[in-house]
Amino acid sequence: MKPIYFDNNATTPIAPEVLNEMLPYLRELYGNPSSMHTFGGQLHRKIEEARVKVADLINAEIEEIIFTSCGTESDNTAIMSAIESYPRKRHVITTRVEHPAVLNFCKHLVRKGYRVTFLPVDKFGRLEMEVFLKAIDDDTAVVSIMYANNETGVVFPIKDIGEILQERKILFHTDAVQAVGKVLIDVKELPVDMLSLSGHKLHAPKGVGALYVRKGTRFYPYIIGGHQERGRRAGTENVASIIALGKACELAKGYLNEEAGYLSRLRDKLERALLELCPDAQVNGDRENRLPNTTNMSFQYVEGEAILLRLNEYGICASSGSACTSGSLEPSHVLRAMGIPFTAIHGSIRFSLSHYNTEDEVDKVIEVMPSIIRELRTLSPYGKEKMQG
Ligand code: PLP
Repeated sequence: MKPIYFDNNATTPIAPEVLNEMLPYLRELYGNPSSMHTFGGQLHRKIEEARVKVADLINAEIEEIIFTSCGTESDNTAIMSAIESYPRKRHVITTRVEHPAVLNFCKHLVRKGYRVTFLPVDKFGRLEMEVFLKAIDDDTAVVSIMYANNETGVVFPIKDIGEILQERKILFHTDAVQAVGKVLIDVKELPVDMLSLSGHKLHAPKGVGALYVRKGTRFYPYIIGGHQERGRRAGTENVASIIALGKACELAKGYLNEEAGYLSRLRDKLERALLELCPDAQVNGDRENRLPNTTNMSFQYVEGEAILLRLNEYGICASSGSACTSGSLEPSHVLRAMGIPFTAIHGSIRFSLSHYNTEDEVDKVIEVMPSIIRELRTLSPYGKEKMQG
């Protein structure tokens, strides 16, 4: 059975055009792009063609794109490069709601003796600008703030933050892994020094990413070895996946203009219906500044895991902010940072869409969810009490 896949912030299906483009480089064209012979050497040109396409999607210059193995590597590289480039500065600023690729790297820096400010967010998952302004000081080497949150879809005011940091001459990195391919990003308009993206969030395969580094930004490589990526990221290139990422970016550029309207129409239909049909439901996060494909909803007095298991029986894939299903022992750090009550965190579900989703699929979720929630509440002692009361 083909799944009804509403978990696109976790990963996306590879676009058929992308798969077609990459397959020859896994089969017959297996050379090493650093080789002197044509068989390998010709791949170098293909990598450069892919670089043009990635750069084009975010309006960057070609030499500003470094291919990496994933979003996590891009994030780690950006922060590490900043602190290596400014060794006297020992302070880093980030937020409490970052992906572990940034959050845990920053916790690692704390253990190494760096001072890290983890900025709070308000109950809508928004940054408190006053607190951010107060956190900046002369010791700050880099600020890393995500473009959009993977759990709630909340979009941060990256332009405003970047303008402040540009004036203070402090490096600014944004983890745009969830934003690239979903919303228009133009680095000529956006005052960021570094920006991370990941292939598998935009219909390319897992295990490939890129880091944008603005021309003139001091850069220190994280992976040291050969001369690949002009000495900025060693290791024999993942040729097929880089070509795939290029193709995915080219496709995204083509569909981006219609994407947001289509996705938000489906997402809003789903959200409105579930709010109406399921009592004690709420949307988590700022509904104004949000990715068009994401909704994070809480259904009080039920367990997110139980909802997911029941949805799974209908072939519907989503994810939950509660423990276990999120792959961690702790319930969502993002929802906790927002001060969402535990009863709501435990019953939270994230639906994240892509342009491969259809209105029929949304209708199917709308059809099954209310009875799932009703049923689960009759099984939970607290839920039963609430329903009777
Ligand atoms: N940053 C964000 C916001 C993400 O959502 C993810 C993946 O979920 C990552 C970074 C890590 O990307 P990757 O899985 O390519 O390492």
